[in-house]
Amino acid sequence: MLKSSISRRLTIYSLFLIILPLLICSIYMVDYFYKINIQDKTSSLENQAKTVAAISHIYFQEEDNADASLLQSISADTGLRITLVNASGEVIYDSSHDTESMDNHETRPEIQNALQAGTGSSIRYSDTLQKNLLYVAVPVYDNGTLLGVSRTALNIAPLEKSYDDMRNNILFIFFAVTIIAISIGIILTRRFTNPIRQMTVDAQKIINGDLNTRMRINTADELEFLAAAINKLTSRLLRKINDSRAKAHTLSLILDNMDNAVILLNENGLITEANKQAKDIFKITPNIIKTYSINCIGSTVISNTAKNCAQENKNKKITLRIKLGNTEKTFIVFFAPFTSEAKQSIVCVFHDISLMQEITDRQNIFVANAAHELSTPLTSIKGFSETLLDGDLTEAETTRHFLKIIYDESCRMQYLVKNLLQLAKLNSTDYKKQIAMTNINCTETLEKIIKTITPLLNQNKQSLETTFMVKEIFIKANPELFKQIFINLLENAVKYTPGKGKISLSCSKNEENAIFIIKDTGVGIAKADLPFIFDRFYRSDKSRARQDIGGSGIGLSLVKFLVELFSGRIFASSELGVGTTFTISFPLQKNTIAKK
Ligand code: ADP
Repeated sequence: MLKSSISRRLTIYSLFLIILPLLICSIYMVDYFYKINIQDKTSSLENQAKTVAAISHIYFQEEDNADASLLQSISADTGLRITLVNASGEVIYDSSHDTESMDNHETRPEIQNALQAGTGSSIRYSDTLQKNLLYVAVPVYDNGTLLGVSRTALNIAPLEKSYDDMRNNILFIFFAVTIIAISIGIILTRRFTNPIRQMTVDAQKIINGDLNTRMRINTADELEFLAAAINKLTSRLLRKINDSRAKAHTLSLILDNMDNAVILLNENGLITEANKQAKDIFKITPNIIKTYSINCIGSTVISNTAKNCAQENKNKKITLRIKLGNTEKTFIVFFAPFTSEAKQSIVCVFHDISLMQEITDRQNIFVANAAHELSTPLTSIKGFSETLLDGDLTEAETTRHFLKIIYDESCRMQYLVKNLLQLAKLNSTDYKKQIAMTNINCTETLEKIIKTITPLLNQNKQSLETTFMVKEIFIKANPELFKQIFINLLENAVKYTPGKGKISLSCSKNEENAIFIIKDTGVGIAKADLPFIFDRFYRSDKSRARQDIGGSGIGLSLVKFLVELFSGRIFASSELGVGTTFTISFPLQKNTIAKK
Protein backbone atom coordinates (compact mmCIF):
# COMPACT_ATOMS: atom_id res chain seq x y z
CA MET A 1 0.00 0.00 0.00
CA LEU A 2 1.02 3.59 -0.47
CA LYS A 3 2.70 5.18 2.53
CA SER A 4 1.17 8.60 1.97
CA SER A 5 -1.65 9.46 -0.33
CA ILE A 6 -1.37 12.24 -2.87
CA SER A 7 -4.31 14.08 -1.28
CA ARG A 8 -2.63 14.09 2.15
CA ARG A 9 0.61 15.33 0.69
CA LEU A 10 -1.08 17.98 -1.42
CA THR A 11 -3.03 19.19 1.62
CA ILE A 12 0.11 19.41 3.75
CA TYR A 13 2.10 21.20 1.03
CA SER A 14 -0.63 23.74 0.33
CA LEU A 15 -1.06 24.35 4.06
CA PHE A 16 2.62 24.99 4.39
CA LEU A 17 2.48 27.32 1.43
CA ILE A 18 -0.47 29.31 2.74
CA ILE A 19 -0.20 29.16 6.50
CA LEU A 20 3.52 29.51 7.07
CA PRO A 21 3.87 32.85 5.23
CA LEU A 22 0.68 34.01 6.89
CA LEU A 23 2.05 33.12 10.30
CA ILE A 24 5.41 34.77 9.63
CA CYS A 25 3.67 37.85 8.27
CA SER A 26 1.36 38.09 11.26
CA ILE A 27 4.20 37.75 13.78
CA TYR A 28 6.24 40.32 11.93
CA MET A 29 3.35 42.78 11.71
CA VAL A 30 2.48 42.49 15.42
CA ASP A 31 6.11 42.93 16.35
CA TYR A 32 6.48 45.81 13.94
CA PHE A 33 3.46 47.68 15.30
CA TYR A 34 4.65 47.09 18.85
CA LYS A 35 8.10 48.45 18.08
CA ILE A 36 6.70 51.49 16.21
CA ASN A 37 4.45 52.24 19.15
CA ILE A 38 7.28 51.94 21.63
CA GLN A 39 9.46 54.17 19.43
CA ASP A 40 6.67 56.81 19.31
CA LYS A 41 6.23 56.64 23.03
CA THR A 42 9.99 56.79 23.55
CA SER A 43 10.44 59.92 21.44
CA SER A 44 7.44 61.60 23.09
CA LEU A 45 8.81 60.66 26.52
CA GLU A 46 12.21 62.00 25.47
CA ASN A 47 10.67 65.33 24.52
CA GLN A 48 8.81 65.42 27.75
CA ALA A 49 11.98 64.49 29.68
CA LYS A 50 13.78 67.33 27.94
CA THR A 51 10.96 69.74 28.83
CA VAL A 52 11.14 68.58 32.42
CA ALA A 53 14.95 68.95 32.26
CA ALA A 54 14.58 72.55 31.07
CA ILE A 55 12.39 73.55 33.96
CA SER A 56 14.02 71.41 36.64
CA HIS A 57 17.30 73.36 37.26
CA ILE A 58 15.89 74.84 40.35
CA TYR A 59 15.14 71.39 41.82
CA PHE A 60 18.74 70.39 41.52
CA GLN A 61 20.01 73.67 42.89
CA GLU A 62 17.53 74.08 45.73
CA GLU A 63 16.42 70.62 46.48
CA ASP A 64 14.72 71.35 49.74
CA ASN A 65 13.04 74.71 48.87
CA ALA A 66 11.91 74.01 45.35
CA ASP A 67 8.24 73.95 44.66
CA ALA A 68 7.25 70.62 43.15
CA SER A 69 3.74 71.67 42.22
CA LEU A 70 4.64 72.45 38.57
CA LEU A 71 6.10 69.00 38.05
CA GLN A 72 3.17 67.51 39.92
CA SER A 73 0.66 69.21 37.63
CA ILE A 74 2.62 68.14 34.48
CA SER A 75 2.63 64.56 35.75
CA ALA A 76 -1.06 64.73 36.54
CA ASP A 77 -1.91 66.21 33.13
CA THR A 78 0.22 63.85 31.06
CA GLY A 79 -0.14 60.73 33.22
CA LEU A 80 3.63 60.43 33.21
CA ARG A 81 5.83 59.50 36.08
CA ILE A 82 8.52 62.14 36.46
CA THR A 83 11.71 61.41 38.33
CA LEU A 84 14.69 63.65 38.97
CA VAL A 85 17.97 61.99 39.90
CA ASN A 86 20.95 64.08 40.98
CA ALA A 87 24.52 63.55 39.75
CA SER A 88 25.26 61.08 42.56
CA GLY A 89 22.24 58.95 41.62
CA GLU A 90 19.95 60.00 44.46
CA VAL A 91 16.29 60.54 43.58
CA ILE A 92 15.46 64.12 44.46
CA TYR A 93 11.95 64.10 43.03
CA ASP A 94 9.47 61.38 41.94
CA SER A 95 5.89 62.12 41.00
CA SER A 96 4.66 58.68 42.03
CA HIS A 97 6.69 57.78 45.07
CA ASP A 98 8.27 59.11 48.21
CA THR A 99 11.92 59.85 47.42
CA GLU A 100 13.08 58.95 50.94
CA SER A 101 12.32 55.31 50.47
CA MET A 102 13.79 55.09 46.97
CA ASP A 103 17.23 53.56 46.44
CA ASN A 104 20.10 55.02 44.43
CA HIS A 105 19.26 55.12 40.68
CA GLU A 106 22.75 55.56 39.33
CA THR A 107 22.91 52.05 37.90
CA ARG A 108 19.55 52.17 36.14
CA PRO A 109 20.22 51.37 32.46
CA GLU A 110 18.32 54.37 31.06
CA ILE A 111 20.28 56.69 33.41
CA GLN A 112 23.60 55.11 32.46
CA ASN A 113 22.74 55.46 28.77
CA ALA A 114 21.58 59.07 29.23
CA LEU A 115 24.84 60.02 30.90
CA GLN A 116 26.87 58.29 28.21
CA ALA A 117 24.87 58.95 25.05
CA GLY A 118 22.77 61.99 25.93
CA THR A 119 19.54 59.98 26.07
CA GLY A 120 18.62 56.53 27.38
CA SER A 121 15.58 54.38 27.47
CA SER A 122 14.55 51.02 28.86
CA ILE A 123 11.49 48.98 29.52
CA ARG A 124 11.59 47.46 32.92
CA TYR A 125 9.47 46.25 35.70
CA SER A 126 9.31 48.92 38.28
CA ASP A 127 9.82 47.46 41.76
CA THR A 128 8.58 50.72 43.14
CA LEU A 129 5.29 50.78 41.19
CA GLN A 130 5.16 47.08 40.40
CA LYS A 131 4.32 47.70 36.72
CA ASN A 132 6.07 47.47 33.38
CA LEU A 133 7.25 50.96 32.59
CA LEU A 134 8.98 52.62 29.64
CA TYR A 135 11.69 54.87 31.02
CA VAL A 136 13.39 57.67 29.07
CA ALA A 137 16.16 59.73 30.68
CA VAL A 138 18.08 62.83 29.56
CA PRO A 139 20.95 64.56 31.40
CA VAL A 140 20.44 68.02 32.86
CA TYR A 141 23.38 70.44 32.55
CA ASP A 142 23.89 73.88 33.84
CA ASN A 143 26.55 75.74 31.91
CA GLY A 144 28.26 72.47 31.18
CA THR A 145 27.99 71.16 34.71
CA LEU A 146 25.99 67.95 35.14
CA LEU A 147 23.16 68.56 37.54
CA GLY A 148 21.53 65.22 37.24
CA VAL A 149 19.10 63.31 35.07
CA SER A 150 15.51 64.04 34.16
CA ARG A 151 13.52 60.84 33.67
CA THR A 152 10.00 60.37 32.39
CA ALA A 153 8.24 57.02 32.54
CA LEU A 154 5.05 55.72 31.09
CA ASN A 155 3.04 52.75 32.15
CA ILE A 156 3.05 50.55 29.03
CA ALA A 157 0.59 48.01 30.44
CA PRO A 158 -2.26 49.38 28.21
CA LEU A 159 0.07 49.24 25.24
CA GLU A 160 1.10 45.68 26.06
CA LYS A 161 -2.50 44.76 26.63
CA SER A 162 -3.51 46.08 23.21
CA TYR A 163 -0.50 44.27 21.78
CA ASP A 164 -1.64 41.03 23.49
CA ASP A 165 -5.20 41.60 22.23
CA MET A 166 -3.90 42.19 18.76
CA ARG A 167 -1.74 39.05 18.93
CA ASN A 168 -4.66 37.00 20.27
CA ASN A 169 -6.90 38.28 17.50
CA ILE A 170 -4.30 37.49 14.90
CA LEU A 171 -3.81 34.00 16.37
CA PHE A 172 -7.53 33.47 16.39
CA ILE A 173 -7.79 34.61 12.75
CA PHE A 174 -4.75 32.50 11.96
CA PHE A 175 -6.32 29.34 13.43
CA ALA A 176 -9.66 30.08 11.81
CA VAL A 177 -7.94 30.62 8.47
CA THR A 178 -5.92 27.42 9.04
CA ILE A 179 -9.04 25.36 9.68
CA ILE A 180 -10.81 26.86 6.67
CA ALA A 181 -7.70 26.35 4.54
CA ILE A 182 -7.39 22.72 5.69
CA SER A 183 -11.07 22.07 4.91
CA ILE A 184 -10.90 23.74 1.52
CA GLY A 185 -7.55 22.03 0.87
CA ILE A 186 -9.01 18.62 1.68
CA ILE A 187 -12.06 19.23 -0.52
CA LEU A 188 -9.97 20.53 -3.42
CA THR A 189 -7.32 17.84 -3.24
CA ARG A 190 -10.04 15.20 -2.95
CA ARG A 191 -11.62 16.60 -6.06
CA PHE A 192 -8.27 16.44 -7.75
CA THR A 193 -7.24 13.03 -6.43
CA ASN A 194 -10.61 11.24 -6.68
CA PRO A 195 -10.10 10.44 -10.38
CA ILE A 196 -6.55 9.29 -9.59
CA ARG A 197 -7.90 7.06 -6.81
CA GLN A 198 -10.55 5.69 -9.18
CA MET A 199 -7.86 5.08 -11.78
CA THR A 200 -5.73 3.28 -9.17
CA VAL A 201 -8.65 0.99 -8.28
CA ASP A 202 -9.32 0.27 -11.97
CA ALA A 203 -5.60 -0.30 -12.63
CA GLN A 204 -5.51 -2.78 -9.75
CA LYS A 205 -8.46 -4.64 -11.29
CA ILE A 206 -6.62 -4.76 -14.63
CA ILE A 207 -3.46 -6.03 -12.89
CA ASN A 208 -5.58 -8.74 -11.23
CA GLY A 209 -6.63 -9.94 -14.66
CA ASP A 210 -10.00 -8.23 -15.21
CA LEU A 211 -9.16 -6.88 -18.64
CA ASN A 212 -12.76 -5.81 -19.28
CA THR A 213 -12.34 -2.94 -16.82
CA ARG A 214 -12.34 0.50 -18.46
CA MET A 215 -11.44 3.80 -16.79
CA ARG A 216 -14.28 6.35 -16.95
CA ILE A 217 -12.60 9.70 -16.22
CA ASN A 218 -14.22 12.94 -17.39
CA THR A 219 -11.87 15.57 -16.04
CA ALA A 220 -11.15 17.10 -19.47
CA ASP A 221 -7.46 17.28 -18.60
CA GLU A 222 -4.30 15.17 -18.79
CA LEU A 223 -5.86 12.56 -16.48
CA GLU A 224 -8.65 11.91 -18.96
CA PHE A 225 -6.05 11.56 -21.70
CA LEU A 226 -4.04 9.15 -19.52
CA ALA A 227 -7.18 7.10 -18.74
CA ALA A 228 -8.02 6.90 -22.44
CA ALA A 229 -4.46 5.76 -23.20
CA ILE A 230 -4.65 3.07 -20.47
CA ASN A 231 -8.05 1.94 -21.83
CA LYS A 232 -6.55 1.63 -25.31
CA LEU A 233 -3.60 -0.35 -23.94
CA THR A 234 -5.95 -2.65 -22.01
CA SER A 235 -8.10 -3.26 -25.10
CA ARG A 236 -5.01 -4.04 -27.12
CA LEU A 237 -3.73 -6.35 -24.38
CA LEU A 238 -7.11 -8.09 -24.19
CA ARG A 239 -7.12 -8.56 -27.96
CA LYS A 240 -3.59 -9.94 -27.86
CA ILE A 241 -4.43 -12.27 -24.96
CA ASN A 242 -7.58 -13.46 -26.73
CA ASP A 243 -5.55 -14.03 -29.89
CA SER A 244 -2.92 -16.00 -28.04
CA ARG A 245 -5.63 -17.89 -26.14
CA ALA A 246 -7.29 -18.78 -29.45
CA LYS A 247 -3.94 -19.80 -30.88
CA ALA A 248 -3.13 -21.84 -27.76
CA HIS A 249 -6.58 -23.44 -27.96
CA THR A 250 -6.11 -24.29 -31.64
CA LEU A 251 -2.67 -25.62 -30.88
CA SER A 252 -3.93 -27.72 -28.00
CA LEU A 253 -6.78 -28.99 -30.21
CA ILE A 254 -4.27 -29.93 -32.88
CA LEU A 255 -1.99 -31.51 -30.31
CA ASP A 256 -4.84 -33.42 -28.66
CA ASN A 257 -6.28 -34.61 -31.93
CA MET A 258 -3.08 -35.68 -33.61
CA ASP A 259 -2.10 -39.33 -33.64
CA ASN A 260 1.30 -38.66 -32.14
CA ALA A 261 2.01 -38.39 -28.46
CA VAL A 262 3.80 -35.12 -27.61
CA ILE A 263 5.67 -34.54 -24.34
CA LEU A 264 7.50 -31.41 -23.25
CA LEU A 265 10.51 -31.83 -20.98
CA ASN A 266 12.34 -29.15 -19.02
CA GLU A 267 16.12 -28.92 -18.73
CA ASN A 268 16.03 -31.38 -15.79
CA GLY A 269 14.10 -33.97 -17.77
CA LEU A 270 10.85 -33.34 -15.89
CA ILE A 271 7.61 -33.69 -17.82
CA THR A 272 6.08 -30.21 -18.06
CA GLU A 273 3.35 -30.77 -20.65
CA ALA A 274 1.77 -33.74 -22.40
CA ASN A 275 -0.98 -33.95 -24.99
CA LYS A 276 -4.00 -36.28 -24.69
CA GLN A 277 -2.37 -39.10 -26.63
CA ALA A 278 0.74 -38.97 -24.46
CA LYS A 279 -1.39 -39.02 -21.30
CA ASP A 280 -3.42 -41.98 -22.60
CA ILE A 281 -0.51 -44.00 -23.96
CA PHE A 282 1.97 -43.45 -21.14
CA LYS A 283 -0.60 -43.08 -18.34
CA ILE A 284 0.61 -39.59 -17.44
CA THR A 285 -1.59 -38.35 -14.60
CA PRO A 286 -1.70 -34.68 -13.44
CA ASN A 287 0.42 -35.48 -10.36
CA ILE A 288 3.22 -36.74 -12.64
CA ILE A 289 3.44 -33.45 -14.56
CA LYS A 290 6.20 -31.15 -13.24
CA THR A 291 7.04 -33.72 -10.55
CA TYR A 292 8.36 -36.80 -12.31
CA SER A 293 11.10 -37.36 -14.83
CA ILE A 294 10.31 -38.87 -18.23
CA ASN A 295 11.93 -42.07 -16.90
CA CYS A 296 8.62 -42.80 -15.19
CA ILE A 297 7.18 -44.06 -18.49
CA GLY A 298 9.56 -46.99 -18.23
CA SER A 299 12.61 -46.06 -20.29
CA THR A 300 15.77 -44.11 -19.56
CA VAL A 301 16.68 -43.82 -23.26
CA ILE A 302 14.41 -40.79 -23.70
CA SER A 303 15.91 -38.77 -20.85
CA ASN A 304 19.45 -39.57 -22.05
CA THR A 305 18.66 -38.57 -25.62
CA ALA A 306 16.85 -35.44 -24.40
CA LYS A 307 19.94 -34.52 -22.38
CA ASN A 308 22.20 -34.93 -25.44
CA CYS A 309 19.72 -33.00 -27.54
CA ALA A 310 19.79 -30.10 -25.04
CA GLN A 311 23.58 -30.14 -24.71
CA GLU A 312 24.22 -30.24 -28.46
CA ASN A 313 21.19 -28.03 -29.24
CA LYS A 314 20.41 -30.33 -32.17
CA ASN A 315 17.34 -32.29 -33.23
CA LYS A 316 17.54 -36.04 -32.57
CA LYS A 317 15.58 -39.10 -33.61
CA ILE A 318 15.52 -42.56 -32.02
CA THR A 319 13.53 -45.76 -32.36
CA LEU A 320 12.09 -46.79 -29.03
CA ARG A 321 10.74 -50.20 -28.15
CA ILE A 322 8.85 -50.08 -24.89
CA LYS A 323 6.56 -52.39 -22.98
CA LEU A 324 3.32 -50.66 -22.07
CA GLY A 325 1.18 -52.96 -19.94
CA ASN A 326 1.01 -56.28 -21.78
CA THR A 327 1.85 -54.96 -25.22
CA GLU A 328 5.15 -53.97 -26.69
CA LYS A 329 5.07 -50.74 -28.66
CA THR A 330 7.52 -49.29 -31.13
CA PHE A 331 7.90 -45.53 -31.54
CA ILE A 332 10.09 -43.25 -33.59
CA VAL A 333 10.79 -40.40 -31.17
CA PHE A 334 11.76 -36.95 -32.49
CA PHE A 335 13.53 -34.58 -30.09
CA ALA A 336 13.71 -30.83 -30.72
CA PRO A 337 15.32 -28.36 -28.29
CA PHE A 338 13.92 -24.88 -27.87
CA THR A 339 14.37 -21.99 -25.48
CA SER A 340 11.47 -20.13 -23.96
CA GLU A 341 11.80 -17.37 -21.33
CA ALA A 342 15.51 -18.18 -20.92
CA LYS A 343 14.67 -21.78 -20.05
CA GLN A 344 15.58 -24.67 -22.28
CA SER A 345 12.93 -27.27 -23.05
CA ILE A 346 12.81 -30.30 -25.30
CA VAL A 347 9.74 -31.29 -27.24
CA CYS A 348 9.45 -35.06 -27.80
CA VAL A 349 7.11 -36.33 -30.49
CA PHE A 350 6.28 -40.05 -30.36
CA HIS A 351 5.31 -41.51 -33.70
CA ASP A 352 3.70 -44.91 -33.09
CA ILE A 353 5.02 -47.35 -35.69
CA SER A 354 3.90 -50.46 -33.77
CA LEU A 355 1.37 -51.39 -36.46
CA MET A 356 3.86 -50.80 -39.27
CA GLN A 357 6.42 -52.75 -37.29
CA GLU A 358 3.92 -55.57 -36.74
CA ILE A 359 3.03 -55.61 -40.45
CA THR A 360 6.71 -55.72 -41.35
CA ASP A 361 7.30 -58.44 -38.75
CA ARG A 362 4.32 -60.38 -40.05
CA GLN A 363 5.48 -59.97 -43.62
CA ASN A 364 8.90 -61.26 -42.62
CA ILE A 365 7.36 -64.15 -40.76
CA PHE A 366 5.02 -64.80 -43.69
CA VAL A 367 7.89 -64.85 -46.18
CA ALA A 368 9.96 -67.05 -43.85
CA ASN A 369 7.02 -69.39 -43.28
CA ALA A 370 6.10 -69.53 -46.96
CA ALA A 371 9.72 -70.20 -47.88
CA HIS A 372 9.93 -72.82 -45.18
CA GLU A 373 6.67 -74.49 -46.24
CA LEU A 374 7.79 -74.55 -49.86
CA SER A 375 11.33 -75.65 -49.16
CA THR A 376 10.24 -78.76 -47.22
CA PRO A 377 8.41 -80.44 -50.14
CA LEU A 378 11.03 -79.08 -52.56
CA THR A 379 13.85 -80.69 -50.55
CA SER A 380 11.87 -83.89 -50.57
CA ILE A 381 11.23 -83.70 -54.35
CA LYS A 382 14.86 -82.84 -55.04
CA GLY A 383 16.15 -85.63 -52.79
CA PHE A 384 13.96 -88.33 -54.29
CA SER A 385 14.55 -87.11 -57.89
CA GLU A 386 18.34 -87.29 -57.28
CA THR A 387 17.97 -90.78 -55.86
CA LEU A 388 16.00 -91.81 -58.93
CA LEU A 389 18.53 -90.21 -61.29
CA ASP A 390 21.46 -91.80 -59.50
CA GLY A 391 19.80 -95.26 -59.55
CA ASP A 392 19.23 -97.53 -62.54
CA LEU A 393 15.40 -97.41 -62.19
CA THR A 394 15.19 -101.20 -62.42
CA GLU A 395 13.25 -101.69 -59.23
CA ALA A 396 9.82 -100.70 -60.38
CA GLU A 397 8.27 -100.83 -56.90
CA THR A 398 10.85 -98.53 -55.32
CA THR A 399 10.79 -96.22 -58.30
CA ARG A 400 7.02 -96.04 -58.08
CA HIS A 401 7.20 -95.37 -54.32
CA PHE A 402 9.65 -92.52 -54.88
CA LEU A 403 7.59 -91.08 -57.71
CA LYS A 404 4.50 -91.25 -55.46
CA ILE A 405 6.35 -89.22 -52.80
CA ILE A 406 7.45 -86.72 -55.45
CA TYR A 407 3.85 -86.49 -56.66
CA ASP A 408 2.43 -86.05 -53.14
CA GLU A 409 4.95 -83.34 -52.29
CA SER A 410 4.16 -81.59 -55.58
CA CYS A 411 0.46 -81.77 -54.71
CA ARG A 412 1.21 -80.30 -51.32
CA MET A 413 3.22 -77.50 -52.90
CA GLN A 414 0.46 -76.90 -55.41
CA TYR A 415 -2.15 -76.82 -52.61
CA LEU A 416 -0.02 -74.34 -50.69
CA VAL A 417 0.68 -72.12 -53.67
CA LYS A 418 -2.99 -72.28 -54.70
CA ASN A 419 -4.12 -71.22 -51.24
CA LEU A 420 -1.53 -68.46 -51.08
CA LEU A 421 -2.55 -67.20 -54.49
CA GLN A 422 -6.17 -67.28 -53.49
CA LEU A 423 -5.45 -65.34 -50.32
CA ALA A 424 -3.42 -62.79 -52.27
CA LYS A 425 -6.21 -62.45 -54.84
CA LEU A 426 -8.86 -62.08 -52.17
CA ASN A 427 -6.81 -59.32 -50.57
CA SER A 428 -7.10 -57.30 -53.74
CA THR A 429 -10.09 -54.94 -53.72
CA ASP A 430 -10.57 -55.24 -57.48
CA TYR A 431 -10.81 -59.01 -57.27
CA LYS A 432 -13.24 -58.80 -54.37
CA LYS A 433 -15.50 -56.60 -56.49
CA GLN A 434 -15.49 -59.20 -59.27
CA ILE A 435 -16.68 -62.04 -57.01
CA ALA A 436 -20.22 -62.92 -58.04
CA MET A 437 -22.58 -63.06 -55.11
CA THR A 438 -25.86 -64.91 -55.39
CA ASN A 439 -28.53 -66.18 -53.06
CA ILE A 440 -27.55 -69.67 -52.19
CA ASN A 441 -29.51 -72.31 -50.36
CA CYS A 442 -27.01 -73.41 -47.73
CA THR A 443 -28.61 -76.81 -46.98
CA GLU A 444 -28.53 -77.75 -50.64
CA THR A 445 -24.91 -76.63 -50.98
CA LEU A 446 -23.94 -78.48 -47.80
CA GLU A 447 -25.44 -81.70 -49.21
CA LYS A 448 -23.11 -81.36 -52.21
CA ILE A 449 -20.12 -80.71 -49.93
CA ILE A 450 -20.87 -83.82 -47.88
CA LYS A 451 -20.84 -85.86 -51.07
CA THR A 452 -17.42 -84.46 -51.95
CA ILE A 453 -15.99 -85.20 -48.53
CA THR A 454 -17.49 -88.69 -48.07
CA PRO A 455 -14.57 -90.57 -49.73
CA LEU A 456 -12.16 -88.92 -47.33
CA LEU A 457 -14.40 -89.84 -44.39
CA ASN A 458 -14.59 -93.42 -45.54
CA GLN A 459 -10.84 -93.54 -46.06
CA ASN A 460 -10.39 -92.51 -42.41
CA LYS A 461 -13.24 -94.67 -41.20
CA GLN A 462 -15.02 -91.69 -39.78
CA SER A 463 -18.70 -90.88 -39.64
CA LEU A 464 -20.35 -87.53 -40.23
CA GLU A 465 -23.56 -86.71 -38.40
CA THR A 466 -25.66 -83.99 -40.01
CA THR A 467 -28.48 -82.06 -38.37
CA PHE A 468 -30.32 -79.64 -40.66
CA MET A 469 -33.01 -77.92 -38.58
CA VAL A 470 -34.56 -76.26 -41.62
CA LYS A 471 -34.81 -77.27 -45.24
CA GLU A 472 -33.84 -74.00 -46.78
CA ILE A 473 -31.50 -71.33 -45.52
CA PHE A 474 -30.59 -68.59 -47.92
CA ILE A 475 -27.58 -66.38 -47.61
CA LYS A 476 -25.80 -64.11 -50.03
CA ALA A 477 -22.46 -65.62 -51.02
CA ASN A 478 -20.34 -66.99 -53.83
CA PRO A 479 -21.22 -70.72 -54.08
CA GLU A 480 -17.69 -71.95 -54.85
CA LEU A 481 -16.07 -69.94 -52.08
CA PHE A 482 -18.87 -70.92 -49.66
CA LYS A 483 -18.09 -74.56 -50.45
CA GLN A 484 -14.41 -73.97 -49.81
CA ILE A 485 -15.15 -72.76 -46.27
CA PHE A 486 -16.86 -76.00 -45.31
CA ILE A 487 -14.48 -78.27 -47.23
CA ASN A 488 -11.54 -76.73 -45.37
CA LEU A 489 -13.25 -77.07 -41.99
CA LEU A 490 -14.45 -80.62 -42.61
CA GLU A 491 -11.04 -81.66 -43.96
CA ASN A 492 -9.46 -80.26 -40.79
CA ALA A 493 -12.00 -82.13 -38.67
CA VAL A 494 -11.07 -85.34 -40.50
CA LYS A 495 -7.36 -84.52 -40.30
CA TYR A 496 -7.28 -83.83 -36.57
CA THR A 497 -9.72 -86.53 -35.45
CA PRO A 498 -8.24 -89.97 -34.94
CA GLY A 499 -9.87 -92.99 -36.61
CA LYS A 500 -13.48 -93.77 -35.65
CA GLY A 501 -13.88 -90.28 -34.21
CA LYS A 502 -17.16 -88.49 -34.66
CA ILE A 503 -17.69 -85.44 -36.78
CA SER A 504 -20.95 -83.54 -36.81
CA LEU A 505 -22.36 -80.77 -38.94
CA SER A 506 -25.47 -78.86 -37.94
CA CYS A 507 -27.28 -76.00 -39.55
CA SER A 508 -30.01 -73.76 -38.14
CA LYS A 509 -31.15 -70.19 -38.24
CA ASN A 510 -32.47 -67.53 -35.91
CA GLU A 511 -34.21 -64.25 -36.66
CA GLU A 512 -31.27 -62.79 -38.52
CA ASN A 513 -28.55 -65.38 -39.04
CA ALA A 514 -27.84 -68.75 -40.50
CA ILE A 515 -25.79 -70.75 -37.97
CA PHE A 516 -23.46 -73.67 -38.81
CA ILE A 517 -21.64 -75.80 -36.26
CA ILE A 518 -18.85 -78.21 -37.20
CA LYS A 519 -17.83 -80.34 -34.29
CA ASP A 520 -15.28 -83.14 -33.95
CA THR A 521 -13.99 -85.40 -31.20
CA GLY A 522 -10.38 -84.95 -32.27
CA VAL A 523 -7.14 -83.93 -30.63
CA GLY A 524 -8.38 -80.43 -29.79
CA ILE A 525 -6.42 -77.20 -29.64
CA ALA A 526 -4.56 -75.87 -26.59
CA LYS A 527 -6.10 -72.74 -25.02
CA ALA A 528 -2.88 -70.80 -25.67
CA ASP A 529 -3.06 -71.62 -29.41
CA LEU A 530 -6.74 -70.91 -29.88
CA PRO A 531 -6.45 -67.11 -30.45
CA PHE A 532 -3.87 -67.68 -33.22
CA ILE A 533 -5.32 -70.52 -35.27
CA PHE A 534 -6.77 -68.11 -37.86
CA ASP A 535 -3.31 -66.56 -38.43
CA ARG A 536 -1.49 -67.53 -41.60
CA PHE A 537 0.90 -70.48 -41.24
CA TYR A 538 -0.08 -70.98 -37.64
CA ARG A 539 -0.06 -74.52 -36.42
CA SER A 540 -0.89 -75.59 -32.93
CA ASP A 541 1.25 -78.73 -33.17
CA LYS A 542 3.87 -78.52 -35.85
CA SER A 543 5.34 -81.99 -35.36
CA ARG A 544 1.95 -83.58 -35.73
CA ALA A 545 0.93 -81.42 -38.64
CA ARG A 546 4.04 -82.37 -40.53
CA GLN A 547 2.78 -85.91 -40.84
CA ASP A 548 -0.50 -84.84 -42.43
CA ILE A 549 -0.98 -84.05 -46.04
CA GLY A 550 -1.45 -80.41 -46.83
CA GLY A 551 -0.79 -79.17 -43.31
CA SER A 552 0.37 -75.64 -44.06
CA GLY A 553 -1.44 -73.35 -41.60
CA ILE A 554 -3.15 -71.46 -44.42
CA GLY A 555 -6.57 -73.20 -44.44
CA LEU A 556 -8.15 -71.50 -41.41
CA SER A 557 -6.90 -68.02 -42.33
CA LEU A 558 -8.55 -68.51 -45.72
CA VAL A 559 -11.74 -69.71 -44.02
CA LYS A 560 -11.89 -66.66 -41.78
CA PHE A 561 -11.21 -64.42 -44.72
CA LEU A 562 -14.04 -65.95 -46.77
CA VAL A 563 -16.51 -65.92 -43.85
CA GLU A 564 -15.90 -62.23 -43.34
CA LEU A 565 -16.17 -61.65 -47.10
CA PHE A 566 -19.78 -62.86 -46.81
CA SER A 567 -20.34 -60.63 -43.75
CA GLY A 568 -20.23 -63.65 -41.45
CA ARG A 569 -18.41 -64.44 -38.23
CA ILE A 570 -16.48 -67.51 -37.07
CA PHE A 571 -15.60 -68.71 -33.55
CA ALA A 572 -13.59 -71.68 -32.38
CA SER A 573 -13.83 -73.45 -29.05
CA SER A 574 -11.77 -76.44 -28.16
CA GLU A 575 -10.46 -78.66 -25.42
CA LEU A 576 -7.31 -80.74 -25.76
CA GLY A 577 -8.14 -84.43 -26.18
CA VAL A 578 -11.91 -83.74 -26.29
CA GLY A 579 -12.50 -82.02 -29.60
CA THR A 580 -12.99 -78.77 -31.46
CA THR A 581 -16.10 -76.84 -32.43
CA PHE A 582 -16.27 -74.14 -35.13
CA THR A 583 -19.39 -71.95 -35.12
CA ILE A 584 -20.11 -69.83 -38.17
CA SER A 585 -22.92 -67.36 -38.67
CA PHE A 586 -23.98 -65.54 -41.84
CA PRO A 587 -26.66 -62.86 -42.11
CA LEU A 588 -29.80 -64.31 -43.68
CA GLN A 589 -30.92 -63.04 -47.05
CA LYS A 590 -33.74 -60.55 -46.29
CA ASN A 591 -36.52 -61.96 -48.49
CA THR A 592 -35.89 -65.45 -47.15
CA ILE A 593 -35.95 -64.65 -43.42
CA ALA A 594 -39.67 -65.44 -43.11
CA LYS A 595 -39.31 -68.92 -44.65
CA LYS A 596 -39.06 -71.77 -42.12
P1 ADP B 1 -3.36 -76.78 -41.64
O1 ADP B 1 -3.22 -76.84 -43.09
O2 ADP B 1 -2.11 -76.91 -40.86
O3 ADP B 1 -4.45 -77.62 -41.12
P2 ADP B 1 -5.15 -74.71 -40.93
O4 ADP B 1 -5.05 -73.22 -41.09
O5 ADP B 1 -6.31 -75.33 -41.55
O6 ADP B 1 -3.79 -75.30 -41.38
O7 ADP B 1 -5.17 -74.95 -39.38
C1 ADP B 1 -4.30 -74.26 -38.54
C2 ADP B 1 -3.99 -75.10 -37.30
O8 ADP B 1 -5.18 -75.19 -36.50
C3 ADP B 1 -3.66 -76.50 -37.64
O9 ADP B 1 -2.28 -76.67 -37.87
C4 ADP B 1 -4.10 -77.23 -36.40
O10 ADP B 1 -3.07 -77.22 -35.44
C5 ADP B 1 -5.26 -76.44 -35.87
N1 ADP B 1 -6.57 -77.04 -36.25
C6 ADP B 1 -7.40 -76.64 -37.26
N2 ADP B 1 -8.54 -77.36 -37.26
C7 ADP B 1 -8.43 -78.20 -36.20
C8 ADP B 1 -9.29 -79.24 -35.67
N3 ADP B 1 -10.49 -79.50 -36.20
N4 ADP B 1 -8.86 -79.91 -34.60
C9 ADP B 1 -7.65 -79.62 -34.04
N5 ADP B 1 -6.79 -78.69 -34.49
C10 ADP B 1 -7.19 -77.98 -35.57
